[in-house]
Amino acid sequence: MTLFGLQYPINDKITFSLAVIEKRRSLLLTDDKLVKFLSDYEKAFENTQKAMREIGMSDICCDCAINTGGSCCGEGIEDWFDSALIVINLLLDVNIPEKRMVQNGCWFLGETGCLIKAKHTLCINYLCKRLQQDISPDKLQYFQKCMLHETELLFYMEEKIKEILRGEPLSDIYKKH
Ligand code: SF4
Ligand code: SF4
Repeated sequence: MTLFGLQYPINDKITFSLAVIEKRRSLLLTDDKLVKFLSDYEKAFENTQKAMREIGMSDICCDCAINTGGSCCGEGIEDWFDSALIVINLLLDVNIPEKRMVQNGCWFLGETGCLIKAKHTLCINYLCKRLQQDISPDKLQYFQKCMLHETELLFYMEEKIKEILRGEPLSDIYKKH
């Protein structure tokens, strides 16, 4: 049994994803399409980050987090993550927190912001009222174009990982269920 799906506790999804990486990393990385997606994703991620800086979004979010505690990375958002998304982060050498670092915050939130790269679409395309008010529509449109490419690649990678592992006996990976 695999732990793909949203219904499992985040602890179990992380344990499963770490085991997938430990036991099937090389299998995943023999898939040329997945390797290409990962490489394209690194570029798309950097591109979105660059767009966020260029249009002033990074500064606004930083100010919001420091001065008002932010409000968009609350506890429970991690439940929208599928294990495949956690596997993607691990393939990108991201360290997944072993416990919640910020009280009432998302599992993946650290003291200085989000600790992971591959985020849920909800996180990537969220535009709060302040961002909508403070950033011009044409700049937001530019950002949305970048983030759309990033979210597309995440979707392709999630599907690819599930496809590769679907044909695999996984009893050595996760014995709990
Ligand atoms: S998206 Fe909005 S609420 Fe979230 S940190 Fe940025 S400014 Fe604050
Ligand atoms: S994954 Fe990152 S961006 Fe998304 S809610 Fe959690 S801390 Fe915030």
